[in-house]
Amino acid sequence: MAGESNHHNGDKTLSVRIYEQVNESVFRCYQCGKCSAGCPLSEDMDYPPSQLMRMLQLETPEVEANILRSYTIWLCLTCETCIARCPQEVDIPKIMDFLRSESLRRKKVHPSAKDIISFHKSFLDSIKYTGRLHEVGLIAGYKFRTYHLLKDLPVAPKLFLRGKLKLFPHFIKGKSVISRIFTKTFREYKGKEAEK
Ligand code: SF4
Ligand code: SF4
Repeated sequence: MAGESNHHNGDKTLSVRIYEQVNESVFRCYQCGKCSAGCPLSEDMDYPPSQLMRMLQLETPEVEANILRSYTIWLCLTCETCIARCPQEVDIPKIMDFLRSESLRRKKVHPSAKDIISFHKSFLDSIKYTGRLHEVGLIAGYKFRTYHLLKDLPVAPKLFLRGKLKLFPHFIKGKSVISRIFTKTFREYKGKEAEK
């Protein structure tokens, strides 16, 4: 049962930490497979969501390492189709969120997920510095991080001409509040990291 003391070498298992940190028990899953059948990305994942739940239930270090190195956790869109279909209401998107942060923390990120992470970071930078999404800033940040400098370049002039890309960002009024939220969240995250 999650929440009880399952450990390997003194470290809590992922299922225990999921229970403690996001209040979700993977042991409620009885492998009906409805989540995987409805997941729009299941076919592209290395482990479909129901398989990932089963792997978490096993609580072995080898399997947990495979979970944290999986591409599945980065492909998940948080669309919530799985939880809508689950008879046990297992909150898989919340579990995926935890696994992503754990994968980053333990430096186990799947090599193919690096572009996805670069996109997330560039998106958040745009929100942090302008208070809203600035597409050109997002694209520039993403290309700078991934070195995909020339990819998709031919479509840029068409988008400019159609007015879909604004060269300069439009700043919102409460921009400083947004920046403070980022700073506070980052500080709290660092504090939690130091406690681990
Ligand atoms: S739908 Fe729910 S119970 Fe069924 S396999 Fe998925 S997580 Fe488990
Ligand atoms: S939230 Fe993730 S795992 Fe669930 S259905 Fe959507 S993409 Fe699949």
